[in-house]
Order: sequence, then structure tokens, then C-alpha cells
Amino acid sequence: LMEVREGSARILVPKAERIYDAPVFYNPVMALNRDISVLAVSVLKPGRVLDALSATGIRGIRYALETPAGEVWLNDISEDAFRLILENARRNLGVEGEMLGERRFVFRGEKTVVANHDDANRLMAEKFRYFDFLDLDPFGSPVEFLDTALRSVKRRGVLAVTATDTGVLCGAYRQACRRKYLAEPIRGELCHEAGLRILIGTVVRYAAKYDLGVEVLLAYYRDHYFRAFLRLRSGAKKADRSVSMLGYLRQEASGRFEYETGFLPERLPSHGPLWLGPLKEQRFVEETLKLAEKKALAHKKTLPFLEVLAKELDLPFHYDTHALARRNGLQVGKLADVIEALREIGYRATRTHFSPTAIKTDAPFDAVLEAMKPLK
Ligand code: SAM
Repeated sequence: LMEVREGSARILVPKAERIYDAPVFYNPVMALNRDISVLAVSVLKPGRVLDALSATGIRGIRYALETPAGEVWLNDISEDAFRLILENARRNLGVEGEMLGERRFVFRGEKTVVANHDDANRLMAEKFRYFDFLDLDPFGSPVEFLDTALRSVKRRGVLAVTATDTGVLCGAYRQACRRKYLAEPIRGELCHEAGLRILIGTVVRYAAKYDLGVEVLLAYYRDHYFRAFLRLRSGAKKADRSVSMLGYLRQEASGRFEYETGFLPERLPSHGPLWLGPLKEQRFVEETLKLAEKKALAHKKTLPFLEVLAKELDLPFHYDTHALARRNGLQVGKLADVIEALREIGYRATRTHFSPTAIKTDAPFDAVLEAMKPLK
């Protein structure tokens, strides 16, 4: 084991050549994911938080140390992970805990922290409508935990999900996407945004059967994973409204795309169903950013990344200038020039976090192509 510092926590993590060989998983790259999550929890001020798939405990321990949450649960199915969670909780909380049954340990200090050794699905089934903020951070897809998570989180709570099965959601493994997400993925330059929207769309459909609607507080793609903070809304009408924001995407060889909401696609081939609503609540992102400017963060890219997210135009899909150039035999110019050219003729245009070579704009496809051509 070796000690690492992340945020306010100092935790023991296994030493390993490659992170996936370690008996308990810890990925330092994910410090950005945890930073944003800590900021989100701080803004949302939930009472009870669950880190359902906790590994070393780092995420839940940071929630306990760095946010106003009053009660934090850390759970893992692995025996090694549970032992490490106990050790890390003891070190960081500075209190001795006590066993509570066979698989549970509780630390009562300023905060109540519960370490739990169980299948997350079993714990979430036991804790019905208990958590205000529930975090799913699995290996791969979160789908196998969605049903119990939606029952374990309160009906006005927040569900945070990570998905690292990028290849599946981006269409590299089409059958797997159909199996896990009941959706048709797209390949090419829109695959990451479409993958994120397929993930959100899946949660919307799972939630709808419990008469729960979904609002996106913030969703993003980064370092080969997807992350979404989703606010639940109780009631059949809220669920209907969320379902009405699902739809389909089509793209031509030129890169021109169109999308439409609807339960079934109007024409084939279409990609989806996927979420066509917003990927952020501007006020939430701004509050998160404001906090990020004041707080010591673990990852040096967290703040600049949040700045990009805050400025980004929130419209479905984007134009990747490199892909458009390739598809249409054009030269690749400076991104800033394309944005400027579109703004000059009255359209809105910004960079997007999905790709350093892409823009979000309300301009039509032909205007984007025109803006990419060198000035006369
Ligand atoms: N959240 C951690 C972090 O931020 O560092 C990383 C979690 S790691 C990606 C996924 C964890 O889920 C592993 O530690 C694994 O043992 C655990 N796990 C897998 N299946 C589980 C299940 N059914 N119930 C509970 N834990 C499970």
C-alpha cells in the first residue's frame, strides 16, 4: 500500500504497475470526476449520500470531509475493498467506529459515516427511498444498478452516474449497446455526445416506469468516461415530460445532421433513442464553478474544464471542423476564426468540451461550411 493525497483526504491505495491489476481500484485520473462530484454535492447540500461502489472509499470520504452532507455511506462488494474502506475511514475521520451487524461499520463523529460490505443492489433494495444523493461509479456500465438505485434514492433526490463503457455507447460494440441500453449508437465524430445522450435517455426510461422525471443538472464526457448528475422529479406528468425529450439522430455523409423528438423514429436509419434535452442547468454549473474558484481541488484541469462547460452553448450535437473538412474536402482553419465568422453573421457559436476541434452553434450546416472557407 502507499499513501496518496486527494482533496482533503489522505488514503491508502494498493501499489500496482497497472491500475486494473490492483486488488482494490484507485484511478488518479478520476480525481477530476471526484472534484466535480464534491463540488456538486457541496452545491446540492444533500443530507444522506451513498457511494455505492466505493473501492478505496476515496469518493465517499471526500464527500464526508469536503461537503455539508450529514450521513455518508461507503459500500463495496469486495472483501479487500471493505477492509481498505475501514482503514481509510478510520484515518481520515479520526474516530473509532463500531460494528453494526456483520457487514456494517459505523463511524460517529461530526458526520455519520457508514462502511458497508455488500452487493450494492442488496443495500439499495434495503434502503428504500433513503438517500438524497446516490452515486454509481462502476467498472463499465451502470445499467445493472439503475433499478435499485432509482428505488433507493428519494423521489426528489439526485442520481449521479458514471459510465466507462465508452466503446459500447460510442458504437464500437453495437450489439452490446442494443443489449445494455436498448439503443442504436452512432460512430464517427458525434459518438461521444450521442453516447452521453443514450446513457441519459436510458436513465429517463428506467425512471419513467416509477413515475419519475429526470432533469439534467450537468452531464459531460471526459477521459473516456461519461458522467451525469440527474435530479429526479416525482410524478407521472414529470416522467411524461422527460420521455417526450427522447428522440433520434440522423447524419449524412457530408456531416450534416438532424434530430427529432419522438417515441419512434420518423425515418431510418436513425440513432437512438437518446436524450435531446439540455446537458446542464446553467445556474447549477455557475454555482459549481464559483465554488471551484474558491476551493482547493485535487486535479489541475477541474477548474478550466468547468469553465468550458459553463460557457458552452447547450444545444444537441456539434460540428467537428476536422471531420467536416475531411468529409467535404475543405481546409482546416482556426477554430476561433470559424466561431468568429458565425458570430459576425448573427449566429451563436462556442467551443465544446466534447472535442477541442468542434463547435456548438445554432447556425445551419451550410452556414458552418461557409464559415470554414477561407476569407475572400
Ligand atoms: N468509486 C471509486 C472511486 O471513485 O475511486 C471507484 C469504484 S470502482 C470503478 C468499482 C467498484 O465496484 C469496485 O471496487 C468493485 O469491487 C465494486 N463492485 C462491483 N460490483 C459490485 C456490486 N455488485 N456491489 C458492490 N460493489 C461492487
